[in-house]
Amino acid sequence: MNNPDTFISVIIPIYNEEENIDELCVSLTKVLEDYKKEYEIIFVDDGSSDQSIGLLKKYQDTNNKIKIIKLTKNYGQHIALIAGIEHIKGNIIVTMDGDLQNSPKDIPKFINKIEEGYDFVSGWRVNRYDPVLRKIPSYVLNKIICKITGVNFHDYNCGMNAVRKSIIENMDKYGEMRKFFPALMAKLANSCCEVQVEHNARAKGKSKYDFLKLVGLVADFITSFTVKPFRVLGVTGSFLVSLSTFFGIIFIIARLFGLTGPIPQVLFILLISFLSGIQFLILGFMGEYLIRIYQLLQRETLFQVETIIEK
Ligand code: UDP
Ligand code: MG
Repeated sequence: MNNPDTFISVIIPIYNEEENIDELCVSLTKVLEDYKKEYEIIFVDDGSSDQSIGLLKKYQDTNNKIKIIKLTKNYGQHIALIAGIEHIKGNIIVTMDGDLQNSPKDIPKFINKIEEGYDFVSGWRVNRYDPVLRKIPSYVLNKIICKITGVNFHDYNCGMNAVRKSIIENMDKYGEMRKFFPALMAKLANSCCEVQVEHNARAKGKSKYDFLKLVGLVADFITSFTVKPFRVLGVTGSFLVSLSTFFGIIFIIARLFGLTGPIPQVLFILLISFLSGIQFLILGFMGEYLIRIYQLLQRETLFQVETIIEK
């Protein structure tokens, strides 16, 4: 189905990508002009300290469909995306990286799927050209996201995705969960699918992620998306306390009837289990209070915009 009302908003987070901007702007504009649908390109400058913003402005002089949103500081790729999403005019949103690892040529594939009726289309880098230390945490995070969202995609960490505007309309109330845009979209969309995309090795500039940052991202996802770790503590605590109390009572009865000797080891194990169970329970309860405070804090804005530059 070819919809004449389609208006594509491409959102690209940019953090120190001066070496990639020229080529990106040229290839992106070519693809979108050839595609002959209405479009805008929103670059979100995520606190770059190089020439990125100057280059973007220069290119904007040749293409007035470019909008630049400059954030006050570096907030991270995912928050930069949210900033872009808050300023779209289109009805189909396509996100992609600004380092030429994603190919603008794949954009029509995403639009076709949305026009077919899917609400969210996730990119899948079948041949991914990244270092192993980048791929391992990404694989672990992907598995966790699949488990938590219940939607099994191969590549939740792919920067290239598309979503229908109606799905993101109430995104504000999802607080920190918005930082994991594809995961939240998979949760909110009524129907979603994957498309295979090209992936290129980063030719210029450096990846903004190191191993530690990625491990942090996994922890950030778990604490943003689920309260299960606290619940697991609470349940484990209740289990340990109940079990040790049960066996404790049996042991005392057996001792009273002279069926067993004192066996200090058994007493010791029961006591340790009981006390650790109590500690787990207390942590679980504290967690429940923390969750409530956290949910209140989430309503705060995640970023600040310095300027919006448009023609
Ligand atoms: N990016 C960003 N803010 C950051 C880190 C990255 O806007 O703090 C942008 C970056 O400029 C690029 C995209 O997010 O356009 C993906 O980043 P990168 O290529 O470093 O990630 P990787 O490909 O290693 O996952
Ligand atoms: Mg990259």
